Order: sequence, then structure tokens, then C-alpha cells
Amino acid sequence: MDINALNKTILKCEKCKRLVDYRNNKEVPLKFKNCKYWNKPILGYGDINGRLLVIGLAPAFNGGNRTGRIFTGDKSSDFLISSLYEAGFTNIPTSENKNDGLKYNNMYISLAVRCAPPDNIPLKSEIMNCSGYLYDEIDSMKNLKAILCLGKLAFDSALSYFKLKNVNTKELKFVNAKYYEIDNMRLYSSYHPSPRNVNTKLLKKDEFINFLKDINKYIKS
Ligand code: SF4
Repeated sequence: MDINALNKTILKCEKCKRLVDYRNNKEVPLKFKNCKYWNKPILGYGDINGRLLVIGLAPAFNGGNRTGRIFTGDKSSDFLISSLYEAGFTNIPTSENKNDGLKYNNMYISLAVRCAPPDNIPLKSEIMNCSGYLYDEIDSMKNLKAILCLGKLAFDSALSYFKLKNVNTKELKFVNAKYYEIDNMRLYSSYHPSPRNVNTKLLKKDEFINFLKDINKYIKS
């Protein structure tokens, strides 16, 4: 499916009643009380003709769900975008709002689930509901050389895509900062850049940047 047509479909999607209800009724924190929340599904962003696809988990209620753009306006975004910038994947080191001029180089970024879930944990049925959109995006990326999955849930979503294509994924396990060769591309995995993983030093910035730099070197080779 053409990416613009796909995005139009996603924007209208209300398959997950729990998530629609959550985003429409959750109380907004005081510091954002004057913000107009997006409260719709979040679209993929970047260069659909790029060689790398980055897959995240789901938008945070006060991040992407507030600002209307993937990985924008929260702590995870700060960590991820500044790291991507250091590795040459973005034109600026910050992602604050839709009008900040952020552009991705040679990559597209998307999500396993496009509506903010309570406690950042989607149900299996919600992941299933949303999976077809991700598969369509992967199929739209004609120059794809690598997929980077941020967290196990994103990794499992990528595996489901390959399973559907009858690619053997049996031996593949989520491990931080690792990659597998699969179906003529590389499947990379990393811990998600959530504040919990960053604050506990499970994900270290210098190591993550070096990992991203290696990915950039590979996709350009
Ligand atoms: S999470 Fe995905 S499938 Fe569920 S309502 Fe949002 S866009 Fe639709």
C-alpha cells in the first residue's frame, strides 16, 4: 500500500477501544494543562526510501500522544534523538514539537503500537490489531537494509513480520546491542531508551551511540 494511503487509514483507526478510551479520558498533568493533545494514532516519520527502519514500542501519553509526532516531547525522545544525531541519523539533536524542523537521514521510524497504552503496556490483542500497519511500512521500504528494534516488544513484532513471510526465526532471541542476518537484511536489537533503562544504566549513552554508528556504517556499505 502507498504510504500516504496507509497513513490516512491509520489516522482513522479505532480498532482498540481500550486505547481510544484511555487517550480521550486520561487526566492531563498540570504542567501540560495548556497543551492541546493530539490524542490520535501516531504515524511513522522520516525517509520511507531510507535504508534503516527503527521500531519503537508505543507512544507515551505525554510524549507522542501529546505532540502528535513519534518520539517527540519526552525523556525517551531526548535520549533517542540526541543519540541518533551523534550517529548521523538526524539534522538536529532534539525532538520537541512538530514544528522544530527535525529530519531523519536515511531512516524511517515507527512503532509496534500507535496509540498510547496505560502504563506503556499494550495488550496482546492491541499489538495484533496494529501489526498490519507495521508490516505494510516494512513492505513500503524498498531500500531497506536493516531494522533496529528498540525493546523486546518491537523485536517480537519484527519477528512476526518475518514469520509471516515464512522466514525461520526460531533461533532469534532479543539481546541488547546485537544483530542477526535475516532475509537479506540485518535485524538489530537494543534496549528501549525509556527513562527506566537509561536511569538504571541498562542502556548507556556512549555504548548506544557507538551501536548506532556501526549501524549507519553498515547501511552505507
Ligand atoms: S493501537 Fe493501532 S490498531 Fe489500535 S486503535 Fe491505535 S492505530 Fe488502531
